[in-house]
Amino acid sequence: MTDTSPLSGLRLRLRLEEPLAPRTTWRIGGAARLFAEVEDVNALAGLLRWAADEGLPAIPLGKGSNVLVPDEGLEAVVFVMVGELAAVTIEAPLVRAGGGASLMSLAVTARNAGLTGTENLSGIPSSVGGAVRINAGAYGTEIFDLLEEVTVVSRAGEVRVVATGAISHGYRWSALCDGDDVVAAATLRLRVAGREEIDARLAEVREKRKKALPAGPNAGSVFKNPPGDHAGRLLEACGLKGLRVGGAEVSGRHANVIVNVGGATAADVRELMARMREAVRDGFGIDLVPEVEDLGRFVTNRGGSPSVESPR
Ligand SMILES: Cc1cc2nc3c(=O)[nH]c(=O)nc-3n(C[C@H](O)[C@H](O)[C@H](O)COP(=O)(O)OP(=O)(O)OC[C@H]3O[C@@H](n4cnc5c(N)ncnc54)[C@H](O)[C@@H]3O)c2cc1C
Repeated sequence: MTDTSPLSGLRLRLRLEEPLAPRTTWRIGGAARLFAEVEDVNALAGLLRWAADEGLPAIPLGKGSNVLVPDEGLEAVVFVMVGELAAVTIEAPLVRAGGGASLMSLAVTARNAGLTGTENLSGIPSSVGGAVRINAGAYGTEIFDLLEEVTVVSRAGEVRVVATGAISHGYRWSALCDGDDVVAAATLRLRVAGREEIDARLAEVREKRKKALPAGPNAGSVFKNPPGDHAGRLLEACGLKGLRVGGAEVSGRHANVIVNVGGATAADVRELMARMREAVRDGFGIDLVPEVEDLGRFVTNRGGSPSVESPR
């Protein structure tokens, strides 16, 4: 039985068996054995240290827009960042955002301060931490183009401020993807601009995205674009639009998007992704690399009795 009493006194709230599907844009997946809302960096460090001591995986969840949560749920402590860890503050031309802040709140706060740079990212339904980890981008801007430094917390609870130049990154990837560090905050350097100019760009981005993206619960692009090509083009050329497994369907609007058309399971999505990948391999000899993160690796035996004591 896991003892959560060492966590009392930290600025966090704990719950057992928290359903995760409503916290993902796909609306898919089971529950987290233990769930935490973490309010400051001290609590984050304490939680990570405690989980490491208990041998329990600790999984940060941002806005759930790039994850596939397994149907069996997660034998882990899943945590979101709120309060201070989701705040956005301005020291023009710098903006500091907690890892749990949304990219939209970042863009709106920057706009209100007359700072430009984040508009192209504003429609990505991401947290700042999730975006930094994968170097999210849109319309020619990647978040690493704007980053100055990142505050990370290691699984041992060590807090470090890292200059962004020291973090390798590329298309939909940063070195953070290969490690365990949690992004607690990010500082971005923006430029001063007129609000009208910023508003026009925000409206343009909103319109573009409305046209491009399918309705219905989805996780955006499921595969990364291969060098020099587009996964969506290859998948469409394979005639996959409308292909369905259970409640998961390849969008008729964008062949690199899987929509939950009703009752889709993680198993449905996995099977559909395997078929999409196979079709492109057979048709073009290209092995597509998933962009969405399958958290299935954290599934262990969920059949046993609960191993975590009720949080107090
Ligand atoms: C409709 C739609 C449109 C999209 N359009 C785009 C687009 O234009 N461009 C683009 O790049 N992406 C796009 N995406 C994909 C997705 O929004 C991004 O990958 C996003 O950055 C994921 O962030 P998140 O906060 O939702 O992360 P989550 O999905 O919650 O988590 C993703 C991974 O990051 C880890 N993680 C989360 N927070 C942290 C943290 N603070 N520190 C360390 N690790 C963390 C999680 O453990 C998980 O492994 C789109 C998705 C949807 C649903």
